[in-house]
Amino acid sequence: MSDPVVSADVMTLAGALGAERSKPGWSTFSLALNDEQREIRDWAHTFAAEVIRPAASEWDEREETPWPVIQEAAKIGLYGLDANVNLFVDPSGLLMPLVHEELFWGDAGIAMSLKGTGLASSAIFSNGTAEQWSQWMGRCYGTPDDVRVAAFCSSEPGAGSDVSAIRTRATYDAVTDEWVINGQKAWATNGGIADIHVVVATVDPSLGTKGQAAFVVPRTEVRGLQQGTKLRKHGLRASHTADVFFDNVRIPAANVLGGKEKLDERLARARSAQASGRNASMATFEMTRHIVGAQAIGIARAAYEVALDYAKSREQFGRPIIDNQGIAFKLADMAMEIDAARLLVWRAANMSAALMRGETPDYRHGEGSMAKLKAGEVAVRVTEEAIQILGGNGYTREYPVERMHRDAKIYTIFEGTSEIQRLVIARAISGMRIR
Ligand SMILES: Cc1cc2nc3c(=O)[nH]c(=O)nc-3n(C[C@H](O)[C@H](O)[C@H](O)COP(=O)(O)OP(=O)(O)OC[C@H]3O[C@@H](n4cnc5c(N)ncnc54)[C@H](O)[C@@H]3O)c2cc1C
Repeated sequence: MSDPVVSADVMTLAGALGAERSKPGWSTFSLALNDEQREIRDWAHTFAAEVIRPAASEWDEREETPWPVIQEAAKIGLYGLDANVNLFVDPSGLLMPLVHEELFWGDAGIAMSLKGTGLASSAIFSNGTAEQWSQWMGRCYGTPDDVRVAAFCSSEPGAGSDVSAIRTRATYDAVTDEWVINGQKAWATNGGIADIHVVVATVDPSLGTKGQAAFVVPRTEVRGLQQGTKLRKHGLRASHTADVFFDNVRIPAANVLGGKEKLDERLARARSAQASGRNASMATFEMTRHIVGAQAIGIARAAYEVALDYAKSREQFGRPIIDNQGIAFKLADMAMEIDAARLLVWRAANMSAALMRGETPDYRHGEGSMAKLKAGEVAVRVTEEAIQILGGNGYTREYPVERMHRDAKIYTIFEGTSEIQRLVIARAISGMRIR
């Protein structure tokens, strides 16, 4: 029996604390989605289940951009600038990862064709002026009757993880008030087929990343932009990836993101060693890392669901294979790892939204990197385990898990490899310049 005096004291204390902590600031943590978030997530899920997934195998085999699917998404308002703004303007930050998870659950190759444009439009948003937002962001997507895609071109043959090695050069021509761009970009998603190419180039090579800037290159309005080899890939085969060559490509001076005046000021500060460490590529990656993690979770969840269903229906030794702990425990680990990765993604999404409101100064411990790293590695492991659970069937193209495994692998490579994410986190937690 409890002591009635103590109980009464506890009740008083609980009442007083409860009243205090129901004030704003105490009651805001919640993992429950609101009605609108659930509705938008379910809308994306329906499109993924009814349109994307049935087309997945075909476009994977064709290794082409699925324009009809992009158009269908645009017609219902799921592809386009408005759709992106709608997802972006969520104070919790969750709508973007929620929708990405669903679309990539449908199929990663097709979903990348739907979402690859987001990297270029995010670059314009994070580095551009308000005028540049209205001039270029809508054009990245086109209209439902005339859909377009955009490309973000940072990587080069000699500059993947090491963005300071970018050699593509932008030179200002004061006579014509234009930038002249020369160089080669590598592995660009939508490279060469995009209307808008956002290109990271160096203006002053002596300043390393601080001497770089991002430029908007509208393909149909310039001469000298040429698509190189379209790459044949292990996965994400419905997404176009290619090298892009820039040979004396001339664009108006106003096409440098942030404006020329700001760039000149930034370069001047860098020359006097007062600049911040931010650069054009990094600002974009910071904002998008957790979203890439959500894509990986979509793939992992899809493979896990296939494996769970299969394990319940496939019988060996006279009983479903899930009756064996060896299989059931794999599925338990897969479910747990997917949820753990999603929680990291949601945390980073929430911090990113706060950062945008000016409430959180930075990702202090590499939270964006943690989310992307964990989700990418979970996707690779879960899709591999799914193949194992499906046995011989899992290894064939009769079942989707082999495609999902191929698709998952890119998530330990692009938007910062797993090693680079660990470097970012290690530097953040230690405050040291670990190499
Ligand atoms: C399908 C696909 C789509 C892509 N889309 C785009 C795009 O749209 N835009 C774009 O700009 N780029 C894109 N990329 C390029 C991608 O971002 C790069 O491939 C990636 O950044 C890795 O660079 P890298 O391939 O040159 O590898 P490298 O940098 O050469 O790395 C090779 C290996 O060395 C490791 N490594 C390198 N440096 C270190 C270090 N300091 N410490 C420890 N390990 C290290 C890496 O982790 C990796 O394992 C895409 C790539 C692919 C395959």
